[in-house]
Amino acid sequence: MTIILERHQNDLDSKGKVMTKRRRFVAGNWKMNGSLDANRALLNDLVDSVKEAESDVVVFPPALYVQQVSAIVDGSNIAVGVQNISAEKSGAFTGEISVEMVKDFGVKYALIGHSERRTLYGESDKDVALKCKAAVEGGLIPVICVGETEEERENGKTEKVIKKQIVSVIEQIGIEYFKEAIIAYEPVWAIGTGKTATPEEADAVHEFIRCTLKEYDANISNLIRIVYGGSVNASNVDSLFKKDNIDGALVGGASLKAEEFTKIAFAK
Ligand code: PEP
Repeated sequence: MTIILERHQNDLDSKGKVMTKRRRFVAGNWKMNGSLDANRALLNDLVDSVKEAESDVVVFPPALYVQQVSAIVDGSNIAVGVQNISAEKSGAFTGEISVEMVKDFGVKYALIGHSERRTLYGESDKDVALKCKAAVEGGLIPVICVGETEEERENGKTEKVIKKQIVSVIEQIGIEYFKEAIIAYEPVWAIGTGKTATPEEADAVHEFIRCTLKEYDANISNLIRIVYGGSVNASNVDSLFKKDNIDGALVGGASLKAEEFTKIAFAK
């Protein structure tokens, strides 16, 4: 028996145990990088180079370039996301952009709670929850970022921190909002530093996230994609993707280089 779900495939292994194969998700967070010329050059290469990739491939440009990027990737297998979204629908929120607005430009995903938003712009777990709710209700797929700082890891607080970040979203809005979500585990100490969590360290946290979700909904915990972020590149991606609980990657620096990002999109 093989059940094909929209994003997942459940197979029976030789012993008849249900194995969940979650479709790989590979996304590039461009952060505050890019220009009309640089985006065009990067995407012209990528549209062609990732067209046979079996992963879901997504780019997260700065919001100002979403319209340009959506037009270039139209008809390709590259989807577009935004790096942040307002939890509000409209009104007196200077500088903010709503879900409805980005949907006008073909956006499918929203990064929520990236550690740079949490630390530099003071986003709280409650903000993350409300943004997540607004995204799902407006038809965007939230990519919820969680992760511990170096100090928290050194003090043995990784699981406590991750659990709080996830449970506070569930308590605010309910587990059902995770049905459409993707979780990105991004240890803060590994973002943009060249330090990567070892595959074992990352897999252990991904498994912990899955177990945390299981306390609320076993099905969601089994099907949700949990991707790793933190200095992923073409050389370290294969060992990360070999781990059962790592379903893809959220890539910063390496996503700005077509060749490097393409290798990540094709990694098995
Ligand atoms: C990120 O910004 O989400 C990220 C993981 O960055 P980098 O790959 O550069 O560490």
